[in-house]
Amino acid sequence: MAKATIARSRTNDRALHAVVVGAGIVGAATALNLQRRGFEVTIVDAQPPGEGASFGNAGITARCAIVPVPVPGILKKFPSMLTDPMGPLSMDFLHVARNAKWFIDYLRHGRASEVERIASELFKLTNGSIDDHLALSRDTGGESWVTERDYLYIYPKRSDFEAEKFAWDIRRNHGIEWTELTKAELHQMEPDLAPGFNFGIRLPRHGFALDPAKLVKGLVDTFLIRGGHLLLAKAHEIEIGEEGARAIQTDSGRLAFDKLVIAAGAWSATLVAQLGLKVPLMSERGYHVQFHNTGIHHNHPMMVTSGKYVATPMADGLRLAGMVEFKPMSAPPDPKLTDRLKRHGRLLFPNANLEDAETWLGHRPSLPDSLPVIGTVPGHPNVFLAFGHQHIGLSTGPRTGRLIAQLVAGERVNEDLSAFRADRF
Ligand SMILES: Cc1cc2nc3c(=O)[nH]c(=O)nc-3n(C[C@H](O)[C@H](O)[C@H](O)COP(=O)(O)OP(=O)(O)OC[C@H]3O[C@@H](n4cnc5c(N)ncnc54)[C@H](O)[C@@H]3O)c2cc1C
Repeated sequence: MAKATIARSRTNDRALHAVVVGAGIVGAATALNLQRRGFEVTIVDAQPPGEGASFGNAGITARCAIVPVPVPGILKKFPSMLTDPMGPLSMDFLHVARNAKWFIDYLRHGRASEVERIASELFKLTNGSIDDHLALSRDTGGESWVTERDYLYIYPKRSDFEAEKFAWDIRRNHGIEWTELTKAELHQMEPDLAPGFNFGIRLPRHGFALDPAKLVKGLVDTFLIRGGHLLLAKAHEIEIGEEGARAIQTDSGRLAFDKLVIAAGAWSATLVAQLGLKVPLMSERGYHVQFHNTGIHHNHPMMVTSGKYVATPMADGLRLAGMVEFKPMSAPPDPKLTDRLKRHGRLLFPNANLEDAETWLGHRPSLPDSLPVIGTVPGHPNVFLAFGHQHIGLSTGPRTGRLIAQLVAGERVNEDLSAFRADRF
């Protein structure tokens, strides 16, 4: 690290104290990057590291995942998606009505020109995702939990791929490369796959976390060994005095800081509101089912396009992750949606033993334009925001952590981050 950067992380011969709220992938990556720059860093989380959305995601470092959910024609598909007993979408209509503005904005961003703009912005974060992960985790306890591997999109037939031309054209325009797989090639790569999948897409320069929670825990373990601090407590109130924001109240008392980073995933908005900023953050609830001892061979992470879920060969077995459920964050998990994933599992790998299964619900932190917030807070130059990474926070966490650390350290940032401004709403 350059001497100038180290100097910016010190004052009166002591290291500046940076507090990072949130020990998900975004907070962990931010904390490690700050520590590498010479800051004294404390992570505050109400739970042990990696227990939020970063616990149970599909684990894909998805360079290709730049096309947001709302795309042209999405509204027309809603009724069939909602009524399909195997569909990926579920809604509590009262919740949707109460948050009507968010949903209208969300759908409004689905027009073609807007999707293309969003994709270009997201590509700034997803491009190089696997390299970012390998660089972040090198020589840390996270290193063995992330691996480079081609990512497959699998289809019942070629025409299903062609029906997604809009999304694939956007990917091509960003230089995302792929090869097509015939049925024989696909089944050679995945011999236990059900015969109904007749076409595939193989994307190089991708990868996945063999266990996303252990990856985050491994990163934080190394952060602690290197002298970082972890406070297991809920952060409540940001103290704002004449000199601005200088401390945060937690369950375990007051914590003074020089710099504050809010990386609290889907829970970030209440902290941010204290700084006079309203961000329309919503949880897109998602689920996984993790099958142990399946007795099958599964080599590559796969987007199963017919069910819009991901099947990942995790260290601990087969994980199927997906579903978008719009309901209050506090609502209990809906077993109908995990049953749906289990039924998908039987259709995907008919020879698998799917008896031994665990289920999980998590909260994707989503803003209506499907872009995260990465940057400063107007009027509070020592507070930084890093949340709203929706479906791709595992992919984009390491880059976000690096960008935020650069901002905190006052380094030059080459990327144009204006689309991620917090005051854009
Ligand atoms: C089913 C599903 C599948 C997914 N698959 C993928 C995928 O394959 N690839 C991908 O890139 N992304 C995927 N995602 C998205 C990804 O999981 C998230 O975008 C990412 O984990 C968000 O990380 P985060 O660090 O912002 O939030 P989190 O991991 O949720 O961390 C936030 C942390 O903040 C803490 N916190 C909140 N409020 C406070 C407070 N007041 N005080 C103290 N601590 C607080 C929480 O306890 C939590 O630990 C998926 C998500 C889901 C639900």
